[in-house]
Amino acid sequence: MGADMDRAGDRTDGDGADGAAMSSAEHADTARVARRDDAVRAAVEQGLVTPDHPIAALLDVRGIRASAAALHAAFAAVTAPGTPVLHAFAVKATPLVPVLRLLGEEGIGAEVASPGELALATAAGIPPERTVLDSPAKTPAELRQALALGVAVNADSPQELERLDAQVRSAPTGSPLGIRVNPQIGGGSIEALSTATATSKFGVALRDEGARAWIVRAYADRPWLTRLHTHSGSQGMPLELMARGVAETYALAEEINRHVGRHQVDTVDIGGGLPVDFGSDSMAPTYAQYARLLREAAPGLFDGRYGLVTEFGRSLLAKHGTVLARVEYAKSAGGRAVAVTHAGVQIATRTVYAPGSWPLRIAAYDAKGRPKTGPDVVQDVAGPACFAGDLLAEGRPLPLLEQGDHVAALDTGAYYFAHHYAYNSLARPGVYGFVPAGDTPRFAVVREPQTLAEIVEESGGARADSLTDL
Ligand SMILES: *Cc1c(COP(=O)(O)O)cnc(C)c1O
Repeated sequence: MGADMDRAGDRTDGDGADGAAMSSAEHADTARVARRDDAVRAAVEQGLVTPDHPIAALLDVRGIRASAAALHAAFAAVTAPGTPVLHAFAVKATPLVPVLRLLGEEGIGAEVASPGELALATAAGIPPERTVLDSPAKTPAELRQALALGVAVNADSPQELERLDAQVRSAPTGSPLGIRVNPQIGGGSIEALSTATATSKFGVALRDEGARAWIVRAYADRPWLTRLHTHSGSQGMPLELMARGVAETYALAEEINRHVGRHQVDTVDIGGGLPVDFGSDSMAPTYAQYARLLREAAPGLFDGRYGLVTEFGRSLLAKHGTVLARVEYAKSAGGRAVAVTHAGVQIATRTVYAPGSWPLRIAAYDAKGRPKTGPDVVQDVAGPACFAGDLLAEGRPLPLLEQGDHVAALDTGAYYFAHHYAYNSLARPGVYGFVPAGDTPRFAVVREPQTLAEIVEESGGARADSLTDL
């Protein structure tokens, strides 16, 4: 717990009556779509996307701020006054320093899972007290650095706890420390993202023989263990299942505290995982809905005795990112219209390799970046990479895309364009944030487009002779 966590009651902008909340949510969705359309047109007009730079990524700064505010408000509305709440953004969702800084300004910290992510959070100015380190494979050096900084650490395994034992003995630390548990409540619709299955690689498996007793003893032996952590999964998890995972973790915190006879576990880290609707412009489920469901599932967790940490990633950023790409060629094959664009596997790796789990909406824009109209034609939206499966969308009804038009891959602000896949040495696109400003949005560079020199350099360009000289 710390002074820099939210205090419930600081914010009063919770949503009101259900009817009013519905219409204001719809209004917000409509406004977001309008901002996106304006940004696409301006990106074409202002030359962010050109024949020579045929792809760019756009981030809606106002939308990101609104999601951060909605997250604060949702938990403020369900926690007892004075409850410390730290919202730590899962950096892996959008590992871009200006994004972390923006969220930091909105009072959101960072959940990091590697030295690289910790370096990004540090570069963004996220203070250690608002940073949480979770990873299943932390090295002794990483643990030492986190403890020296005062970053919170959740041990993922008994072996990692032994390493913490040694380090805590050798140097005092201000880091809040806990153990990650896997409540083994089962998986969601996407196996690769389900972290609470019986055999998940994450955390201490709570239902395994002897595990519960081991955990209780581990806390009894270590008065410095004050947190419990769980993260039951990401996209594809039903909310009820996630809530059950949190409720089981809360019950374990109560059991530990009863056993040791004091309030040793003072904070529960409930992870992230709120799913995103990739099929429409709706922001549902909302943070407010999830927070209410959590309070129903574990009322005692919200009565003021426990501090809370959350680790949302996708739900904070996904809806606020758009990949915009030119249609280089329009062709036809076997009676199927195919738009060959510059957005493919390099920015939408999951969608291309697992289209069933990760469908993306595609919006069609004309050569000037205006929404394209016309009768729907079933077509493929292909990427630039040299393999047949490089399709953003297959058999998708859209106004017929023509050479020089643009396509937008929607809801790509998390786990997409910031997760470049270097297939075919395709360059990382530039990322631009935008805010409405009078008639046309104003842009800021978040990340420059990758240059050819950078591609050569990261491909061993400085060591061209290393093999021939060997
Ligand atoms: C990935 C991850 C998150 C964030 O998940 P989202 O689905 O993006 O909200 C949070 N905590 C941990 C431990 C994670 O691995």
